[in-house]
Amino acid sequence: MTARLQDSQPVFSAARSVTDSVSALVGNTPLLRLPRLSELTGCEILAKAEFMNPGGSVKDRTALGIISDAEQAGLLKPGMTIVEGTAGNTGIGLAMIGRSRGYSTLIVMNETQSKEKVDLLRAYGAEVRRVTVAPYTDPGNYNHVARRLAESLPSGFWANQFDNLANRRAHYLTTGPEIWNQTEGSVTDFVSGLGTGGTIAGVSQALKERNPKVRVTLADPYGASMWSHFKYGNLDHDEGDSITEGIGQARITQNTAGALVDDCYRFADSVIIEMLYHLRNVEGLCLGSSSAINVCGAVRTALKYGPGQTIVTILCDGGARYLSKLFNPEWLTAQNLVVRGLSDEELIREISRVE
Ligand code: PMP
Repeated sequence: MTARLQDSQPVFSAARSVTDSVSALVGNTPLLRLPRLSELTGCEILAKAEFMNPGGSVKDRTALGIISDAEQAGLLKPGMTIVEGTAGNTGIGLAMIGRSRGYSTLIVMNETQSKEKVDLLRAYGAEVRRVTVAPYTDPGNYNHVARRLAESLPSGFWANQFDNLANRRAHYLTTGPEIWNQTEGSVTDFVSGLGTGGTIAGVSQALKERNPKVRVTLADPYGASMWSHFKYGNLDHDEGDSITEGIGQARITQNTAGALVDDCYRFADSVIIEMLYHLRNVEGLCLGSSSAINVCGAVRTALKYGPGQTIVTILCDGGARYLSKLFNPEWLTAQNLVVRGLSDEELIREISRVE
């Protein structure tokens, strides 16, 4: 027997709509205002809650886009194996949607990526191979390993998220228009990190097509080359490294080649960690490091252009997949990282100095 709802109980309208596949749960994520940072900067700082996708990250959109595109092109048929090199999130999306459509998944991941993502991939029934980190020019690079594995299988399909434009198209067709509609066209700025480039390229194209005045800012970690690429047109990178996962690129992928980027900033791990803990302590948001760098970028953009802007960024994934790292004090200490507990004002001041 169904209990009668008391007046005080919330009624979830979503309960009235019925859907019959996990794919239908991808996208249409809420746009969340970050009140404290909005007040402190005088801008609307808004963030797409991509951690609410069914596979827990923004990359569910990429996975759905790539799978649907390959099916339409006749490249992917039930019984086949999807193979991909990934920081983990795309793999989780591929494994999840793959299961629902009759594909198995073989994932190649750098051993530096979090154990939680590997565990989750295996929970979805994916086979995971971990490889040592190697530059793109090395045949041992995780991408090349994935491509060769796909070629060696009788029915392998290489998703190729870095250079497969179905990735960027998914953001062009969904993330970008959602941001436009959710802000009722008032968005002035979009800020994002870059891994494959799918998010920043697809969203920048969609928003600038609707209003060419929308500005797009890249938030890059140390050790990556995209800051130099968009600022100076070269692929130089500093000697630094970063604890971030899923972002930080050394080459211009096919997806990145379509990115319309106006400005960029480079954030050190010390400020990223501080923002990560600010978001947890003040907003109750437990997130991954790429979400934190994105919010750093949104604040830096607010400080550059001054009050009155409507700045949208992405909360890429949740903190549960980094418990053993970002939320483990021993791990942080081993990385020489300290959560200093800066006040909100001190955090803003530190971000204002970032170039
Ligand atoms: N954040 C996380 C956690 C990711 O896994 C990824 C994807 N590699 C990104 C950000 C970057 O997104 P994109 O690949 O669209 O550039």
